[in-house]
Amino acid sequence: MRGVKCTKCLYLNKHHGELRDPITEQQEAIFQQGTNVGELAQNLHPGGIDLTPESYYDFTPSVIATKEAIQRGENVIYEAAFLHDGVLAAMDILVKSDHGYKAYEVKSSTGVKSTYIQDAALQAYVIMASGVDLEDISIVHLNKTYKLDGELDIQQLFTTVSIRETIQPYLSTIQTQIDQFKGILNSAAIPNVPIGPHCSAPYSCDFTGHCWSDVPDYSVFDISGLGESRKFDLYNRGIVSLHQIPESENFSANQQKQIDAEVQEESYIHRDRINQFLNDLAYPVHFLDFETMSFAVPQLEGSFPYEPIPFQYSMHKQHSKNALPEHVEFLAEPNGVDPRALFIDHLLDHCGTTGTILVYNIGFEKRILNNLANSYPQYKTRIEAILLRMVDLMTPFKKKWYYTPEMKGSASLKYVYPAIFPTTENSYSGLNISDGAMASLVFAQMFQGNYNGNYQNASTDLLAYCQLDTLALVRLLDQLHSIVDHPQTE
Ligand code: SF4
Repeated sequence: MRGVKCTKCLYLNKHHGELRDPITEQQEAIFQQGTNVGELAQNLHPGGIDLTPESYYDFTPSVIATKEAIQRGENVIYEAAFLHDGVLAAMDILVKSDHGYKAYEVKSSTGVKSTYIQDAALQAYVIMASGVDLEDISIVHLNKTYKLDGELDIQQLFTTVSIRETIQPYLSTIQTQIDQFKGILNSAAIPNVPIGPHCSAPYSCDFTGHCWSDVPDYSVFDISGLGESRKFDLYNRGIVSLHQIPESENFSANQQKQIDAEVQEESYIHRDRINQFLNDLAYPVHFLDFETMSFAVPQLEGSFPYEPIPFQYSMHKQHSKNALPEHVEFLAEPNGVDPRALFIDHLLDHCGTTGTILVYNIGFEKRILNNLANSYPQYKTRIEAILLRMVDLMTPFKKKWYYTPEMKGSASLKYVYPAIFPTTENSYSGLNISDGAMASLVFAQMFQGNYNGNYQNASTDLLAYCQLDTLALVRLLDQLHSIVDHPQTE
């Protein structure tokens, strides 16, 4: 699959693993989640023998054991391994059938992706070439419409999709690809493949840090809303930095604003629009931010695979324009207690019935509240009232009514806030938990009771992180007021 994506990726993976990007804690958690889903799916075909290798660097014992298990007619085999012509294929579940074996590849996604088809075609090719009658091959994935109702029902949780017919067109080209890739792997030189859309699609390459090291931190690839083909077109013409863009190039008004801001080192402020935005706010203004966790396999009654479950919020409340904001917050109990009802109960209380509720990137908070309204109909009317009061503080930055070169084309809080307040004061870098993904991972582990650190310290860190997010919103709104009221603060 690496070879299909990029032959350089194939080569680097085999010969220069040291150049691979480091794996983050979040990625490790995703891998672990995949393993857990795979183990759970084994229950769809219980009673099998597990041939998982002791070391992922040596599959030989698994290949031999698989051959022996098939010869003696084993009914169900987990992690069966096959080797043909130097190509190894491992299959999550193999089940004896009337006319040979049926193979099942388990994925923790909620659908069948095109890469799965190509991958399965190679697996089927190797299995059949190893002398096994392969009656069928299927992808087993999570069913996103499955709602946990009492005991986990794995028959409903998983969807099995036969791809026997879908892989057929790929089978005829596999041997040619294998021969081509072997030739590349045996050559002395790294394939000369330039960076391109293949680096991020159909999935992000793990050698990006190496191959993209010559691309500066801020480049044409950061022009907001610009299509990928246009970015690579610029890059391939030697236009990498925004300073190198010729005047003859055409961009949208906001893209041009981003380029001009960088080249001329100028900020842009559309005071009228900002003023209009501010005039539409009603006090008391509530600055709100949620944190959520999600599980591939639903853990909470009435929830779905990967449904974001809110466990924390921070709220600053400002009664008038220059008033000192009050702070309130909520953090769920760890160790498996369903946080949702308490979360919404506290939130409704803290929101009161009047005043704007200001969030940053409104789609996320809206989605969470809509989910809660569906899961807890008794709160529906009050939640809908909150939704009507919600306003997105990202709007002035997203629409570039307020734009500085330091925002680097992004309206994300992680760019906008330090661009406007460049001092280290209130910086996320001083926190043990410094982004939403980390917060989500830590609390999910606390929730499942497998967090390795100190729970009390982690709770303190979570509260500090979330509080900083809403404090940042308070300061951003102050800044918008300042530039309208006192133009010299620009
Ligand atoms: S980063 Fe891009 S060019 Fe480099 S190996 Fe990966 S896909 Fe190939």
